[in-house]
Amino acid sequence: MNPLRSLILAAAGNDVIRRAVAAAPVSRDVVRRFVAGESTAEAIGVTRRLVDSGLTVTLDYLGEDTTDEDLADQTVLAYLELLEALRAEGLAGRAEVSVKLTAVGQLLDERLALTNVSRICAAAQESGTTVTLDMEDHTTTDSTLRVLAELRGTWPTVGAVVQAYLRRTVEDCARLAGEGSRVRLCKGAYAEPGEVAYQDKHEVNLSYVRCLNVLLAGDGYPMFATHDPRLVPIVDARAAHHGRKPGSFEFQMLYGIRPDEQRRLAELGHTVRVYVPYGVRWYGYLMRRLAERPANTAFFLRALASRS
Ligand SMILES: Cc1cc2nc3c(=O)[nH]c(=O)nc-3n(C[C@H](O)[C@H](O)[C@H](O)COP(=O)(O)OP(=O)(O)OC[C@H]3O[C@@H](n4cnc5c(N)ncnc54)[C@H](O)[C@@H]3O)c2cc1C
Repeated sequence: MNPLRSLILAAAGNDVIRRAVAAAPVSRDVVRRFVAGESTAEAIGVTRRLVDSGLTVTLDYLGEDTTDEDLADQTVLAYLELLEALRAEGLAGRAEVSVKLTAVGQLLDERLALTNVSRICAAAQESGTTVTLDMEDHTTTDSTLRVLAELRGTWPTVGAVVQAYLRRTVEDCARLAGEGSRVRLCKGAYAEPGEVAYQDKHEVNLSYVRCLNVLLAGDGYPMFATHDPRLVPIVDARAAHHGRKPGSFEFQMLYGIRPDEQRRLAELGHTVRVYVPYGVRWYGYLMRRLAERPANTAFFLRALASRS
């Protein structure tokens, strides 16, 4: 892995650095590029703007690796408030939610996470929308897929995420590509060891293409989460090859990244979903976005240096 990326991902787990970054006034401006705000109202405002411009949305209430039951409960309550607001604002048809199981107690107890995420799924159904379970580091993959299978027993539209950098993923795609199954394919954002994950970018891209073919050949609803200018046209071409019409798969990109490309794809008739994170616990998320692209890190460091 690129040494800068490893360094930034290591900083993501360092509490001293976290406090320094969170306290820097400039963080606010940088965070705003990637994060919709801290409150439900701000998240709804951004969602409205994106929906009005022809995009769809998945909202993530930021937080992860919770080892505190009360914090897990607060996360559930934040999602319930959000889902009610989406319904009240008439946005539930165009906006769903993404949930990290470690934010609702997975590290404490898988059953607690299942109970908590079930409350979110029930509220989503009541509001007329769906839930996707984000995928986190590889130590959680099996547990997350078990929880997914249980949830799908009651709410078949719950979406899964698979990460192309994991060696196992092409087989997971084959297992998850059944009828009605919503599956997001991404490259993967965590620092993973060579035994479980491809380390070379080219190998990750090849894996992404193998996985997208499996998902497009299946009977599910694939969701292609990538900003990669080489992969987007490959998705398009392979979708045509598999006889997929717009509406039978979608593109997904992160809030603040390649917004022009998001609009371009939507104007071509594709469903494009923007992943919109919000909330006060933005640190880990921001660090992963910076790690993905040296230019983002340089922008952040320059801004810090010019204001301190
Ligand atoms: C909707 C969505 C949901 C996701 N959910 C998960 C999840 O559940 N679990 C998980 O592990 N990961 C998730 N990810 C993150 C994903 O795994 C990657 O880390 C991230 O998307 C970058 O990969 P990429 O495919 O864009 O390709 P990369 O190889 O990282 O980038 C390719 C090109 O895209 C552009 N680009 C990429 N990132 C940036 C950036 N930060 N700023 C500016 N330009 C950029 C650049 O042109 C770059 O050259 C998600 C991503 C998206 C879009």
